[in-house]
Amino acid sequence: MYGIIFVFGLIIGSFLNVCIYRIPQGESIVSPPSHCPNCGTRLKPLDLIPLLSYLICRGKCRYCGLKISPRYLLVELLTGLVSVALFFKYGLTVDFAAFLFLTYILVAVFFIDLDHQIIPNQLVIVGLSGGVILFVYNLFLPLQIYADHSWWNPLLGLVSGSGFLLAVSLIGLAIYKGDEVMGMGDIKLFAPIGLFLGWRMTLLALFLAIILGGISSLVLILIGKATRKSRIPFGPFIVTGVFITVMWGWDIVRWYVSTYF
Ligand SMILES: [Zn+2]
Repeated sequence: MYGIIFVFGLIIGSFLNVCIYRIPQGESIVSPPSHCPNCGTRLKPLDLIPLLSYLICRGKCRYCGLKISPRYLLVELLTGLVSVALFFKYGLTVDFAAFLFLTYILVAVFFIDLDHQIIPNQLVIVGLSGGVILFVYNLFLPLQIYADHSWWNPLLGLVSGSGFLLAVSLIGLAIYKGDEVMGMGDIKLFAPIGLFLGWRMTLLALFLAIILGGISSLVLILIGKATRKSRIPFGPFIVTGVFITVMWGWDIVRWYVSTYF
């Protein structure tokens, strides 16, 4: 079962590579079919096997020898590994399917925001449509992560993370006059996240993202890779915070409560 899920993850990862490359350029993710960006040769099924094609051709285009970024391999592997991790945590449940879906969107968000400092609306909308399905499902059975069975929990999740960031953004605008402190993309991204996590875990994910972002910015400034004026994308930290929350959120809360209360 783990093997099947890992391979499934690799295949999705390969598709996410296409999304990460094409969505910011405004290209369709289905047509034209995959081709080498250098020589334009249309890739055959043999060139499109996740992981293996890259390893066998040692990271080069089979037709023109162009070096292919190891990032493609990384995205595939990462997607395979997070799929296995989620299965380990949730087993074959609706929760598993839900978080698999959310995580796949967030993997694309992670790399697109890293590269282009944007979070595409399309990804937020796809996430929201999944979230709506989950909202209807929650009317009958709750996700484990909500920790209660109130119909409004996901809705409160939708407004809590986004609402907090919106408030920060408005205060920032008032203080710094016109300089955006918080990107609109980050605010919008928390809407689907809230539906999937419920309000409690949404706030934890937000908290973790802020801590991770803060520490990383400090380290980048200290080692001279960034200045206080640099624009460091927040998306990758949101994604990391959400994944940690989905995997260990309630463990973190229990540990915190037992340590400090
Ligand atoms: Zn080529």
